[in-house]
Amino acid sequence: MSDALIRRGRIVDPSQNLDAPGDLLVRDGKIARLWPAGEAPNADGVLELDAAGLVVTPGFIDLHVHLREPGHEEKETIATGSQAAVAGGFTTICAMPNTEPATDSAAMVEYVGRVAAAGAARVLVVAAVSKGRQGKELAELGELAAAGAVGFSDDGNPVASNTLLRNALAYSRMLRLPIMDHCEDPELTKGGQMNEGPVATRLGLKGTPAAAEEVLVARDVALAELTGGWAHICHISTARAVAIVRDAKARGVRVTAEATPHHLVMTDELVMGRWPLFPGSAAAHLPYDTNTKVNPPLRSRVDVEALLAGLRDGTIDAIATDHAPHHVLDKECEYDFAAPGLSGLETALPALLLLVEQGKLSLAEVIRALTVGPARLLGRELGSLRPGGVADVTVFDPSLAWQVTPDALFSKGKNTPFLGETVKGKVVLTLREGRAVHGATRLTQPLALER
Ligand SMILES: [Zn+2]
Repeated sequence: MSDALIRRGRIVDPSQNLDAPGDLLVRDGKIARLWPAGEAPNADGVLELDAAGLVVTPGFIDLHVHLREPGHEEKETIATGSQAAVAGGFTTICAMPNTEPATDSAAMVEYVGRVAAAGAARVLVVAAVSKGRQGKELAELGELAAAGAVGFSDDGNPVASNTLLRNALAYSRMLRLPIMDHCEDPELTKGGQMNEGPVATRLGLKGTPAAAEEVLVARDVALAELTGGWAHICHISTARAVAIVRDAKARGVRVTAEATPHHLVMTDELVMGRWPLFPGSAAAHLPYDTNTKVNPPLRSRVDVEALLAGLRDGTIDAIATDHAPHHVLDKECEYDFAAPGLSGLETALPALLLLVEQGKLSLAEVIRALTVGPARLLGRELGSLRPGGVADVTVFDPSLAWQVTPDALFSKGKNTPFLGETVKGKVVLTLREGRAVHGATRLTQPLALER
């Protein structure tokens, strides 16, 4: 365990309403103390990082990550996904259960936890709602919770059956854990490749209407209200879905929501081919780039604006990446045949910093949705730099430019629509419980990388 003093960084910690230059001392895996910048005394035997020009935040928390192991280690493993997480500034990630086999038993929850324990990031396990994610029979939710599951999801698929969802929400109330639903109606999305609208028509691709999401969000709210259970809306993407959640929250319904960076920075127009998203990037993108294919699909400008408003007013509780790594063969094909999803852990920060640069979100709003927001949902003492708390710390350079290339990514999934672009914002040091799990550049003495 290393002790570290991070000097003169811009400390942004929304859990304490803090955004000021400061010094931060980490000792024995905990946050030991904070001072105004330059006021920390010299401490012997402590490694120092000169963080002038850098931003220091609580370690990011991602509620929605696909690690692919077991079953699809060619796309990602728990170890590579974990390393990608800390490279992106995430010290805690929630592993979704759509592996093969699915995480639908206590033994599987324990297995994922055991394999993940050797990794860089803290991995929490989301278990399946239904056995085998088949949507027919409820999994043993009580046993899964006792084994450590932090929530339940059939993600990849919605919980299509209303009765099954009702029963799951009744358990959710007793267990105080969320049912994390992928809200896309299976009938309305059948064959859909992208957002239904003028762009899909022009490209000749079958569209998925926004209503496919909204009918299930409305249903989830109705059943959460009926049962007193907790519905969590995964990767919310439409304006009306945000309005439904806002209204439900105002009525005291237990509903929470997450949005992804890609739904916040991109629209369906980008499927037509495009100019680079990041200013100064040279990369041009061809139409039908399969890396733009995600479920739910990239939406319209109006939807993006509504998501941003939802983050600003707290309707949306968290930003989650829905990191969905795929093998090159899953994407090197016709749009219709490409697997949906993008590799998101390592580009989340630059994407979100772009929104800050454009004045659409404040840095505090972004960091809140990456730290204290998801921490509250998990009910964990994480996402804060309060003295005495766990020293999960992310230090990033908001102006450091880097090119998104396959080699630059720790994830096995190179399937990002930002490939080739020069983005701005890079994590230079990630501490998990005081240990350097990524980076450690610019230290006055080398801090051993422990993996
Ligand atoms: Zn999903």
